[in-house]
Amino acid sequence: VNLPRQGERGLLETIRRRFGDHAPPAPRGMGDDCAVVSPSAGGVLLTTDCLVEQEHFRREEPPYFLGRKALAVNLSDIAAMGGDPTGFLFTLALPRGVKRRYLDELIDGLASVSREHHVHLLGGDLSRSSGPLFISITILGRTGDRSARASLSRSGARAGHGIYVSGGLGGSAAGRMLLDAGWRPRLRNRSLIGITRPRPAPVDRIRHRSVMRAVRRHLDPSPRLALGHQLRAGRIASAAIDLSDGLSIDLARLAEASGVGANLIRPAIPIDDSVRACAGLGIEPLDLALHGGEDYELLFTVPPGKEKDLADLDAIPIGRVVSRRQGLTLQEAGGRRRALRVRGYDHLRR
Ligand SMILES: [Mg+2]
Repeated sequence: VNLPRQGERGLLETIRRRFGDHAPPAPRGMGDDCAVVSPSAGGVLLTTDCLVEQEHFRREEPPYFLGRKALAVNLSDIAAMGGDPTGFLFTLALPRGVKRRYLDELIDGLASVSREHHVHLLGGDLSRSSGPLFISITILGRTGDRSARASLSRSGARAGHGIYVSGGLGGSAAGRMLLDAGWRPRLRNRSLIGITRPRPAPVDRIRHRSVMRAVRRHLDPSPRLALGHQLRAGRIASAAIDLSDGLSIDLARLAEASGVGANLIRPAIPIDDSVRACAGLGIEPLDLALHGGEDYELLFTVPPGKEKDLADLDAIPIGRVVSRRQGLTLQEAGGRRRALRVRGYDHLRR
């Protein structure tokens, strides 16, 4: 969009219309110099995250999904604290040459996630960028009340607690690798309807359905808000973190914050179906599950007395918290333990 021609005002009006069909939870939302929000009885959660073109996304990726993901990854941080999102601010810096249609789809993606999770746009800023396209989102949430524990944290895990994840891992990283290898998503009415194979395809035997699943996991992650809320409100989890960078590195962060070690059971680690099907690309499935990143599942720990409360929740047991002295280990089916290597997705790519 050419800002001088279309004008910041016109663009703001468009944005206001897209988000305008639900009222902000505050006396003042957009349209004043600041948003005004009322403090909640428990705690106020605040977090921010930015997406920079080439660092976090590429311009050829569908802008609708970029908008969805930009908000979803922030919501995932609220989920990790067991909170409920209330509102968000977003800042967009646009290089010259970005088409109006691109921007419309991006904003539609943001608006769709905002409706799904009842999180209201409170305001933001628009700027030109002489460099890459830049999207920053600051999200506001609330947690707890005066009686309950205010929020989940990374620091409550103790030796003997069970370690759980909320779903299969590695799918997002598999999707990223497929996109990098030339597979292209096909969209109709802003939903993913197919994938075009690169020609020549690097591998023949990759199943189409698995590729779809992997690419969807990468482009359109689902924040685990309902689960996070239940884990906190039911006082079930002792610690939690969302899996943004990979199981091994995010587990290391949780263990460090709690002052503990952890033993993962190798055959128990859930590998997303799409990862196995992409193994023809020369990827070790377990490596993607351990180090892939961007799955946005929750990793959490539960004291033994509370594990019965997990019956109706998405909770896959993958190991147990141990003393700090025992460090981070991976236990084979036969019982032998070896040190868990801690590394993130960036490392996998090199
Ligand atoms: Mg996080």
